[in-house]
Order: sequence, then C-alpha cells, then structure tokens
Amino acid sequence: MPVPIDLHCHSTVSDGMLEPHALVAHAAERGVKVLGLTDHDDIGGLSAAREAAGRHGIALVNGVEISVTWKRRTLHIVGLKIDDQNAALKRALTSVREGREQRALEIAQGLADAGIKGAYEGAKQIAGHAIMTRSHFAEWLVLQGHARNIASVFKKYMVKGKPGFVDFEWMSLEQAVGLIIGAGGVAVVAHPGRYDLGMINMHLLMHEFRSYGGSAIEVVTGSHTPPQFQQFAKIAHRFDLKASQGSDYHGVGRSHMEMGYLPDLPSDCVPVWHDWPEAQFLS
Ligand code: AMP
Ligand code: MN
Ligand code: MN
Ligand code: MN
Repeated sequence: MPVPIDLHCHSTVSDGMLEPHALVAHAAERGVKVLGLTDHDDIGGLSAAREAAGRHGIALVNGVEISVTWKRRTLHIVGLKIDDQNAALKRALTSVREGREQRALEIAQGLADAGIKGAYEGAKQIAGHAIMTRSHFAEWLVLQGHARNIASVFKKYMVKGKPGFVDFEWMSLEQAVGLIIGAGGVAVVAHPGRYDLGMINMHLLMHEFRSYGGSAIEVVTGSHTPPQFQQFAKIAHRFDLKASQGSDYHGVGRSHMEMGYLPDLPSDCVPVWHDWPEAQFLS
C-alpha cells in the first residue's frame, strides 16, 4: 500500500506552477495526508500552505530545499520540520535569494552575448514574486521559440558549458546542514542519484553529511529510477541514514512523478517520519 506522505514539492514561491494553497489542494485531491513543502531557498509559502492544509485535513511539514556547492557541484539539501521563524535560517535564505538575483543578471548577460536579448526582464515577468531560477529562464526561452520544450532548452542553454549557465557558488554543505539543524529541522540529501558522483565521492558525501548532523537521504523521488530506489536504500542502510520520499512535484508536465502515488520505500528502510507524531497513523 502506498504511504500517503510526500516530503518534496514546489510552489510558485520558487519554480512550481501552483500557488501554495492550490498545491495543497492538489495534494489533498491526490490522497496525500502528510505534505512537506520544500521550495528552493525560500520558506515564504509555508504560512499559506499551513492554512490550506488545515482546511484540507492535511498535516503540513515545514520544508525548504537549499542549494549547496560541494566539490564544485551543486547539491540540494532538503530541510524538514524547520522552524520557519528561525532568524538565522531566514537571514541566510534572504542572502541566497540576493545571490540568485545577481546570478540571474549574469545568466541574462550570457544569453545576451549569445544573441538573446531581454532574458532577465522576460524571466522576471514569469517569476513574478518568486525567486529567480533557471526554470524561469527556460520557460521564457521556450515561449520565445528558442527550443521546443523545457527539457531541450536546458540542454541547449541552461547547463554547464552553455550560454545561460553561471557557475554560481552556493552555501557550503556544512552551513546548510547547520542552518537546518539550528532551526530544529532534519537535514535530508535530496535526490542523491542525480549528482553523477562516482562511488567514492558518493560515500565521501554521505560520510561528510553525517558528520555535520545530517540524518536522512531521499530514496524514493521523482528523480530516481526504480533500480536507484534499491541502490539508495542500501546506501541509507550502510551509513545509518533514514529514508525520505517525495515527488519533487513542480506542476503538470513538469515532474517525473505525480503527488500521492509514490512507490513504497524498500522494506529495509527506516522512514524519516518513523518517530513523527503527525505521521504515526501511517505506520
Ligand atoms: P536553479 O536552482 O535556479 O539552478 O534551478 C534549478 C531547477 O531547474 C531545478 O530545481 C529543476 O526544477 C529545474 N531543472 C534543472 N535541470 C533541469 C532539466 N534538465 N530539465 C528540466 N528542469 C530542470
Ligand atoms: Mn525546481
Ligand atoms: Mn532538487
Ligand atoms: Mn525540488
């Protein structure tokens, strides 16, 4: 039986398509009972999501997905059960968002140098009040006819070596885990299968993550294939880490996995929610 808990998704506060209240309504329709909202580098959607969750009989888990630079790669660290009033966390995320603004200007400059003008203004208009992400540039580039769809626009413009890519220095792994734990939360490595790390670096990452107090990794996520569910269940076991699951839902046509239909965690996993009062009815 699929467990109705989804601990990774995005609203319009970052690069999701649904506003926080609509995302919660969508989750409820899909049968989700415990929902973690994890916008990129922003916790501004949590209060609206919490209010909607109350109306829909869903338990909302405060979350965030923090961008990190580790060994010159970008990793994502999810924080769950964070205090969204924590001053240090709020301050650090404000500074990341300022960095994202600067990076967006550099992305636009790179695209302008490749002959595509007006990208900052275009992406800004799509983002509205949201943080500036590569997804917003990608959407604008598709609308302008520079590629057929989001996937091909990323390949052509928004990844390493392409004109709209900026090698941005995010916060350190130690800082992100420290901020999450300092805000009373649980740190989770998001979609570890996506980072293209060899075995040695993957083990190094797990070891280092644990040494800072990190305690879980995503095992079932829209970014993993079924063989990777098994692979990362083994890694969780080996490093004594708990397992999380989440769709990484961004909106219709923008996600590998719908909400509410997540496959079960492999049976030898300890779910990250195993001792959470709001998830007791699940076990
Ligand atoms: P950013 O944090 O601004 O670098 O934007 C990263 C976001 O872009 C991710 O969270 C995904 O939602 C999206 N993204 C990254 N790579 C791809 C890709 N290859 N295809 C589609 N979306 C992507
Ligand atoms: Mn995203
Ligand atoms: Mn991510
Ligand atoms: Mn995500």
